[in-house]
Amino acid sequence: MDHVQEQVLVEVADRNVRFIRLWFTDVVGQLKAVAIDPGQLEAAFAEGIGFDGSAIEGMSRVYESDMLLRPDATTFQMLPWRRTEDPVARMICDVYAPDGKVSHTDPRGVLERAIDNAAKVGFSVMVHPEIEFYLLKPPVAFDHIEPVDNASYFDHVAWGDSNDFRRRVIRALEDMGISVEFSHHEGGPGQNEIDLKAVDALRAADNIMTARTLIEEVALREGMVATFMPKLFIDQPGSGMHLHLSLFEGGDNALYSASGQYQLSVTGRQFIAGLLAHAREISAVVNQHVNSYKRLWGGGEAPSYVCWGHNNRSALVRVPLYKPGKEGSARVEYRASDASMNPYLGLAALIQAGISGIQQHIELEPEAEDDVWGLSDQERRALGIVALPASLQEALEVMRGSEMMAQTLGEEVYDYVLRNGEREWRRYRRQITPAELERFLGVR
Ligand code: GLN
Ligand code: MG
Ligand code: MG
Ligand code: MG
Repeated sequence: MDHVQEQVLVEVADRNVRFIRLWFTDVVGQLKAVAIDPGQLEAAFAEGIGFDGSAIEGMSRVYESDMLLRPDATTFQMLPWRRTEDPVARMICDVYAPDGKVSHTDPRGVLERAIDNAAKVGFSVMVHPEIEFYLLKPPVAFDHIEPVDNASYFDHVAWGDSNDFRRRVIRALEDMGISVEFSHHEGGPGQNEIDLKAVDALRAADNIMTARTLIEEVALREGMVATFMPKLFIDQPGSGMHLHLSLFEGGDNALYSASGQYQLSVTGRQFIAGLLAHAREISAVVNQHVNSYKRLWGGGEAPSYVCWGHNNRSALVRVPLYKPGKEGSARVEYRASDASMNPYLGLAALIQAGISGIQQHIELEPEAEDDVWGLSDQERRALGIVALPASLQEALEVMRGSEMMAQTLGEEVYDYVLRNGEREWRRYRRQITPAELERFLGVR
């Protein structure tokens, strides 16, 4: 047992912890949990806890269904809403195969591999996510989807549902060791945003999973429903998850150069070029649902085209305003990813795409100056600006031809994402929508 694991055992005894929840994430990005008794903790550290992986989306084939959960002791935290009565703690786990090797189908393992690959070429990645979501009044039904307020971007909501809500979520997050940089009402009615402080990529993915869970949990406790659905209302903005990425070489921000355009280093330009070059291939992972493409093509400041810009909010990659004297804060913002993505797979794909740009010295095209939505197809073609996939089907088709994605995800996760996406697309294709009924029957 290592030092951190020993500390966890001490803390569990000191705090009289009754249950320890072991968290892990399936390939779709759904949080899974199993509770163990503190008495099993030593064994969990030493050998792992067995579970049947065949029941988990994308985890294992039926004939090799025994999997092991090995808790990462550095993720030990008390769950804030079970403080007093029955103290409950949680740890995030890595999934192992029965042979004791890291499982190929653990999304967290996929990200760990991408992080290792980046480290091999000298980089560590820091990530600051912006999580958007809608808050609705229960009960939610097909014909009844009512936001908790009617406010808009940065509005201070005087009667306060969202304010109180955000304050409670932030307190819960901070209790679990997750710092919040920023939070505000977003553009849609009932839409909010919570931005987490930049941390290393693995921690960031863990934090996104924790934050989404806390947001849902606090909402339920406050008599609201939170949703990370990418596009909920036709005429309102969708819920994105912009990801601010920075690269460090030792203690230095490798994206920064005092003399570069927008203080971007050559490495920074290549990193962006890699993100753009692979943007269409990674789409099925950062935008994994049929609904994701309604956000990308539904306006509301979501990107539809592959281009970069400085302060251009229609750009897929934005280089935010540089704060003088803060080299460490140099970063790029990827704006396609949506609030429902699997953060482990999404970050793995982004890291791999950006790093490949550096390794292959891809040259960055000039930034898109214009509002790219306002250009004609012809003008965009002349500027070499291609579109993001228009549907999940197109995204899957592009990913099917991507060597980079096959390598990043590993064969099994790659196949699963493709198969699962195809299933979602086929199911969608059979639907007869209210818009079609309106078209033919005049009903609304
Ligand atoms: N909600 C927008 C999206 O879907 C983003 C709005 C913003 O943060 N500027 O990406
Ligand atoms: Mg924001
Ligand atoms: Mg926002
Ligand atoms: Mg943003």
